[in-house]
Amino acid sequence: MLQTALVTGASRGIGLEVCRELHRQGYVVLLGARQLDLGERAAAEIAAGDSDVQAVALDVCSEQGVAALAERARREDWELDVLVNNAGVSLQSFGADVVMRTLATNVFGAIRVTDALLPFLRTGARVVNVSSGMGELSGLGAELRRRFEAVRDRASLLELSREFERDVRSGRHSARGWPTSAYAVSKVALNAFTRLLAGEQPRLRVNAVCPGWVRTEMGGSSAPRSAAEGAAGIVWAATLPADGPSGGFFRDAHRIPW
Ligand code: NDP
Repeated sequence: MLQTALVTGASRGIGLEVCRELHRQGYVVLLGARQLDLGERAAAEIAAGDSDVQAVALDVCSEQGVAALAERARREDWELDVLVNNAGVSLQSFGADVVMRTLATNVFGAIRVTDALLPFLRTGARVVNVSSGMGELSGLGAELRRRFEAVRDRASLLELSREFERDVRSGRHSARGWPTSAYAVSKVALNAFTRLLAGEQPRLRVNAVCPGWVRTEMGGSSAPRSAAEGAAGIVWAATLPADGPSGGFFRDAHRIPW
């Protein structure tokens, strides 16, 4: 039976390369793109005229859009083997608004898509959250580190995120142990969600993967890795066997400290 994968934020960069490789390995690929025309162009670049790579409109920040996708999944009886939460932003400046926008995409976007598609993930399906070495807990003060490690539900993750935003707004974030990086905190939180989901869903393999520093619009042109090299570790986690690890943080198929 053909396996099906959905990749978010796949119009370019690492997500596009993940789609290309999964297609090469024989997966039916649903290529998620905020702008459908860009997604269709990307799908055609991977496999012109091949219906096994299909663009789907998906803005992970849109409640309505994600609900519509889940409704389509229900109508069309989707059975997914892989979900890659790859969509992400790394915004230039720093401030409470940047914190909100960054967390909305990198954390709550991934949670929204995952929760909406959970009923359509087959037993044994793999969920890969594309994280970053910047999401290591070592970037936080001891008390915050302990609280992120203790996250057992979505409400505490939301509360920590709100607290970060409040502390940035009031200029107290450094004193409270937060780094001056919305992106770093978003990936810490995504790692916490990875562990939370792995605990909730023992039937799935749920892991976070750092792709390394990769030459994309986000990584810039000085990065040492190509997008295909960055995609490799994600594809590894997306194709794990049923007895593979779950709840871990990996780079190049090796466990790294969270
Ligand atoms: P790019 O900036 O090249 O691509 C980001 C992708 O995410 C684009 O396709 C973009 O779509 C999409 N996206 C952004 N916001 C949304 C949204 N709201 N809904 C749906 N899609 C969205 O980045 P990379 O390919 O480098 O990054 C991919 C992932 O890898 C990210 O999660 C990033 O944090 C992570 N990562 C990257 C590293 C690097 O060195 N490049 C290092 C470590 C981690 P659109 O075209 O519509 O903007």
